[in-house]
Amino acid sequence: MSEALDLLLVFPNNRARAYGELGVDIAAVIPPVQSGLTAAYLRERGCTVQILDADALEWAPERVGQEVAALRPRLVMVSTDHVNSGDVTKMAAAGETARAIHAAAPGVPVLMDGVVPSAYPKWMLQDEGADYVCQGEPYDPILKLVEKLKAAGPGARVAKREIPGIWARYGDMIVESFRAPMFHNVDTLPMTAWDLMPPANYRAYHWHCFDRLDRRSPYAAIFTNLGCPYGCTFCSVNVVAGGPNFRTHSPDYVMKELEVLKKVYGVTNVRILDNVFTIREDLVEELCDKIIASGMEFNFWAYSRVESVRNPDLLKKMRKAGIRWICYGIEAAHERVRAAVDKPSNPEVIMRALEWTREAGIWILGNFIFGLPEDDRESMQMTLDFAKDFNFEWINFYCAMAYPGTKLYDEVKAAGGMLPKEWSGYGQLSPNAQPLATKYLASKEILAFRDAAFIEYNSNPRYLDMLEKTFGRDARDYVLRILKHKLVRNP
Ligand code: SF4
Repeated sequence: MSEALDLLLVFPNNRARAYGELGVDIAAVIPPVQSGLTAAYLRERGCTVQILDADALEWAPERVGQEVAALRPRLVMVSTDHVNSGDVTKMAAAGETARAIHAAAPGVPVLMDGVVPSAYPKWMLQDEGADYVCQGEPYDPILKLVEKLKAAGPGARVAKREIPGIWARYGDMIVESFRAPMFHNVDTLPMTAWDLMPPANYRAYHWHCFDRLDRRSPYAAIFTNLGCPYGCTFCSVNVVAGGPNFRTHSPDYVMKELEVLKKVYGVTNVRILDNVFTIREDLVEELCDKIIASGMEFNFWAYSRVESVRNPDLLKKMRKAGIRWICYGIEAAHERVRAAVDKPSNPEVIMRALEWTREAGIWILGNFIFGLPEDDRESMQMTLDFAKDFNFEWINFYCAMAYPGTKLYDEVKAAGGMLPKEWSGYGQLSPNAQPLATKYLASKEILAFRDAAFIEYNSNPRYLDMLEKTFGRDARDYVLRILKHKLVRNP
């Protein structure tokens, strides 16, 4: 008889809802790295594990349910995301997946994990079909739960606060826990189980490959550090931890993973998942030296924050090591708007970081948000003009959303502000997207401004000429192709 599967990790499929027809071949296919890390951690400790990436396979919840019925694992972990707001739009798919599993495979317990589950465990248990929720990082909590299910069978019950981080529901009864402590020494974690989620299944963002649009796969993502020491009120990256936090991997740990990705899987395109890659300049420099000495060629992109960019020579070294793109969250051009969300970056510091980065030959992705609480029409126009003037190689234009789990969400709720009633309302590209209204602007006005700004930026002849000059004709044509897709928005 074959060995029972201890844990099946499911990454729910939300592509159609999140991207519409852009999901077919334009949007990226992102590896669920947190699932890969959790799988590796449990496997190292003797558990049998599998990953079912329903998002990459484009499997509907019912198809996932059938697979679970065939596999009958001791526990299914439906994981949304740990690093950003994409988690919120995955919540609809997570709930549907949990319910489909219950329908097809009664008795197989479903655990939810991710940003929103960490913020609201009770909500997930009561309304989203979860039998268990992990609050905090999943490594030890999931291991302990699987060990308990293994030892005592499916009837095993966890008691109140018995396993740090594990909340449970038995019928209508909720068994509470508390946030599990963050894993301390992250260099002792095994690397992502890439054998269970091969990089060939994933596809890089189109802009990340503007100079190699025919080679977006294979694709991988790594951490060199985790968490963020800042506390911007709109941002959800610290929700799982419960507040600002920061841990680092050693350059040797990162190099081991890069060697496997390159030599075993032939990966060149890599996303560095860190929220702020450049915080520890000493570690960044050492890692770059090691990558350069290894002779391995990569096409990395990484997030940074302008305040953490203090050394133009380090940027030049980063470029030499293959960091071709940096994404800066500039958010808004007006200082008043930035300051109101606890991101008061100084304009000179912003310009200094942007210019040094461009001088180092690193392409820049500018992230901007329209409709932050202090935004009015004039300040949103300032943001658009700023982006157009600098002529970033790519921009993301978002609408401000009060994502569940953030400080901004609590503020809006306390003030009685309007929040989406459905998870899909938080989706930036959803037909029913419902951005936050401001004192000066209605939600629909902000959405209309953002959609028009995206078209204006990407059809600007100065931008398209720069794209062609920098990356070639294919990049220009690709952007024009994206513009042909008309976003569907509810009236
Ligand atoms: S610096 Fe960036 S990642 Fe960190 S809290 Fe602010 S927006 Fe989030």
